[in-house]
Amino acid sequence: MNKMKYSIRHQVGDLEVFILTDGKKDFDHDTFLNTNTSEIKHLLSLNRKTQIETNFNAFLVKNGDKKILVDAGAGKLFGSIAGNLGKALQELNIKNDDITDLIATHLHPDHIGGMLTDDGKMVFRNASLTMSEKEYSFWKNPENLKDQPDQKHLPILLSDVYSDRLNLCKSDADLGSGLSAINLPGHTAGHIGIRVSSSGSQFIIAADIIHAQYLQINNPSIGVVFDQDYELAKNSRVKLLDMLSIDRLEFSGGHLIFPALGRISKNGTNYQWEQS
Ligand SMILES: [Zn+2]
Repeated sequence: MNKMKYSIRHQVGDLEVFILTDGKKDFDHDTFLNTNTSEIKHLLSLNRKTQIETNFNAFLVKNGDKKILVDAGAGKLFGSIAGNLGKALQELNIKNDDITDLIATHLHPDHIGGMLTDDGKMVFRNASLTMSEKEYSFWKNPENLKDQPDQKHLPILLSDVYSDRLNLCKSDADLGSGLSAINLPGHTAGHIGIRVSSSGSQFIIAADIIHAQYLQINNPSIGVVFDQDYELAKNSRVKLLDMLSIDRLEFSGGHLIFPALGRISKNGTNYQWEQS
């Protein structure tokens, strides 16, 4: 692990993976479901924390000429707490036009805001954009979130702006260049993680199965108000935590705390975060 101000370099076989930090904030207790203040305080104290910290992360995978950006942060949507993706790319001497592929794990603003300019234009003009078919169909279906048109504006705008280079994939598809999708529905309908594989090494981008690593790893039944389907999201979280602990895979996620690289161990029914 090689840590800079906005990025961490991590070698996966022959591939270089960078964890990019777009910003950070603290969550309120009532952002979390199926828990209470005393449990939250207890879990935080186990980890010597007092606040529910979260980060906003994106990822860059370099494979030969390919520069693949997985998610792109919030752009300017969250004000000064986020929007550092440009600084992270600058730190790595990468220009927006150098990005060849974009992958959206799901279409929430903290992951796709950075793909659009303030006036709704393309930021990464030379990149294709991949998302799961299920995610695309969910946001495009006029029947979904009928009473919340504000939430649908950005996902639909993104799909329209990148429509001439849009790839819709199956939720467990091989995406090429050593990347494949992991089906993790629940946070959103077509939410995916990404497995990076090269020369026998693997690294997992867990996307948004965890929003507060000091709460939801110790107790995966704690949900978050941003989950579209609490039960399905919980099942995906447990499924992935099991896989990570059994296979001892190094991983990161959309909201793990910088430097967001670690492993999961399991003691009985309890999972534990192990910082790399
Ligand atoms: Zn998120």
